Amino acid sequence: MSKKVLVFVESKDGKLRNVSFEALTVAKQLAGGGEVIAALFGTGATEFVQEVSQYGSNKVYVLENEALVTYTTDVYTQALCQVIEDLQAEVILMGHTAIGKDVAPRVAARFGAGLASDCIGADLENGDIVFTRPIYAGKAFQKKVFNQGKVFATLRPNNFELKENPVQAEVVPFQPVIKDLRTIVKEIVRKTTGGVDLSEAKVIISGGRGVKSKDGFQPLQELAEVLGGAVGASRGACDADFCDYALQIGQTGKVVTPDLYIACGISGAIQHLAGMSNSKVIVAINKDPEAPIFQVADYGIVGDLFEVVPLLTEEFKKVLV
Ligand code: FAD
Repeated sequence: MSKKVLVFVESKDGKLRNVSFEALTVAKQLAGGGEVIAALFGTGATEFVQEVSQYGSNKVYVLENEALVTYTTDVYTQALCQVIEDLQAEVILMGHTAIGKDVAPRVAARFGAGLASDCIGADLENGDIVFTRPIYAGKAFQKKVFNQGKVFATLRPNNFELKENPVQAEVVPFQPVIKDLRTIVKEIVRKTTGGVDLSEAKVIISGGRGVKSKDGFQPLQELAEVLGGAVGASRGACDADFCDYALQIGQTGKVVTPDLYIACGISGAIQHLAGMSNSKVIVAINKDPEAPIFQVADYGIVGDLFEVVPLLTEEFKKVLV
């Protein structure tokens, strides 16, 4: 049976997030021949219509509204609920991002529906929608089957293959009614500047307590620059104040799925693995040959990271720069 699938499209720093294109690709598959609708929020949203129509949205709801320029939970919840009602959308997808994690459960609860969060698989099986999601810190996988009511899901970034499917999209301008504004954002102060977004990075060089100091992250930064990647960290490194908590990967940090994850001086605690074990290729550099990280690594280098990482940077420079 065909379905109406709505994708909440997110932008960051003037660019659409890759996970939104992934969600549109999944939406096309779950719609089973039905409609795929993208919802774009904020002033300047119209500019993105062409881009989302490349991924098969038949319709684009454009919410050009000053109140939606900066994310606040209240306003986005109200606006998204109104779009869902107006459309009578049956399936609602968004990225498992900071915003997706915040807004999805609220909106789902307002419709009295459940939510499949952090999904790494999405399929149609005999007309039912089946989402796969990790549980017990990634030790097991759960399948959630939806066969009635509204369906809400957040999708883990970098997990779904992108498939372009250009269509001519119908643009629907939509003005939500925003009431009882309880939060006003006056200023945004960024802790991290520029660089590649960790949750969508294709290459991540991560440091643990083994980097020993703030300066110890410098060789990792240099390798990340050569590979066009981002720098991440274990909680051990964050707790030791070697880096900001924004870099933390794991059960209580960010969940990442890059093509290449290089773990430097990280022991491989289960809580860290929960955030990176789905990376496509894992390289571990650790001076302890018994370190548990080697059990999940595709390639292991037993050695001192302060010798190995600069050598890798030099070698990659020869072929890449
Ligand atoms: P360590 O375990 O101390 O490992 C350091 C490693 O560096 C060692 O293996 C050592 O051999 C190696 N090393 C030292 N010097 C060098 C060198 N010169 N060259 C190469 N290798 C070297 N952790 C997370 O990472 N993310 C989370 O989200 C997270 N959430 C948690 C939630 C809960 C509820 C709890 C209880 C814990 C959580 N933790 C998390 C903490 C986790 O259990 C570990 O304590 C932490 O991951 C350890 O960090 P580490 O591997 O950097 O440090």
